Order: sequence, then C-alpha cells, then structure tokens
Amino acid sequence: MRGRDRRVAGSRSGPRGRLEATPRGVGRDRLSAVARDVVACAACPRLRRYCAAVAARGKREFAGWRYCGDGLRLHRAYITAAVRCAPPENKPAPVEMARCRSYLARELVLLPRVRVILALGRIGFEACRRLLAAQGADIRAMRFAHGAACVPGPAFPTLIASYHPSRQNTNTGKLTEPMLDRVFEMARDLLDERGSGRRIGDV
Ligand code: SF4
Repeated sequence: MRGRDRRVAGSRSGPRGRLEATPRGVGRDRLSAVARDVVACAACPRLRRYCAAVAARGKREFAGWRYCGDGLRLHRAYITAAVRCAPPENKPAPVEMARCRSYLARELVLLPRVRVILALGRIGFEACRRLLAAQGADIRAMRFAHGAACVPGPAFPTLIASYHPSRQNTNTGKLTEPMLDRVFEMARDLLDERGSGRRIGDV
C-alpha cells in the first residue's frame, strides 16, 4: 500500500482486533470493556484451543526476536475483526462467526461517526452486511466482490468490499498492491465526500 492517510473504519479478519484512534472518555472506556470481554471469551472452545497452541508455538519459534514497529500511524480509523480468534485453516464455522459478531455489533454502536467500512475478505464483509441490514440499511442485495460498494443512505456507513490481503491471495496475484490501494483510495474519497457522519442507529 502507498500513502499513510488511511482514514477508514475497517474490518479485519485477524486474531483479536485492536483499539486505535478510538473516541476519548466514556466511548473509549466502553470499547476497552469490549476488548476485555473478547480476551475473556471462551464461547468457541475449538478456536481458543487452536489460538493457545499457535501462541505457544510462536513464543517458542520467535523467542529472542525484538519487535520493531515500522512507523505507520492509524489516522481516524479503527481496526477490528469479524472473528477474533484465528481458526484452523482460516475457516471459522458459521456458528463461530455468528457468536463473534456480537462484539463487532457492540463496537459499531460505540463508534460515534463511522462513515465508511472497508471489509477485508468475505467473512468481514458478510459480518458488516448483516449488522447494517439488522440496523435497517438497505444492503441485503449487495454481493461480495473486490471494489464493490454500497451507500445505504445518510444514516449508515458506506460498505466497501475487498479481497482479504492474505498470503494466499497476494502470492497468487488474486489481490495485487494496486488493487488494494484502489479500495483504500475509494474509502478516502468517500470520506471526503460524506463529511461528518451520523452514529449507526441514530436514524
Ligand atoms: S471467536 Fe469470538 S466468540 Fe468465539 S471464543 Fe473467540 S472471541 Fe469468543
């Protein structure tokens, strides 16, 4: 990816999600509470066992390595995940996806002015599409495709779909760097167009 101004409230299918550039005060405290609930969550025993095994292996394999940040900063954006615990073969079961969606729903309610959601991967896209539809957004007909976008009206964020930047997709050329740049540029342009947003649910 080029450029550093990624003003996107995005969705990422990663292990646990993380807080960045969140609101201050009570909103931030409530988001922190969601993060704590995620850490304590044991609703999917299969995934928790797998994560524990992967973490233990990583600790052994990377013992002594020093983490070096690359200086990138997230600006007015929030990164989260549709499924917080990494599943074996990157394939969560439908019931696991449904269970974990409640955390994403809580976060979306707590984020005051989400205007654009960039969903990386089909799982993230489906989670966002379902949550927005449940809020009343006219988005049921939207289908997953790289670069597809739906603007369900001023009360809801625009949803943009992207292929997931997994090693499988990038190594095979299914997703290239210019393709990923384009969806971030779309998101940035939409943010510039839409101005200040409204809170999800404030219909
Ligand atoms: S995937 Fe989500 S619902 Fe399942 S155990 Fe992890 S945090 Fe809990």
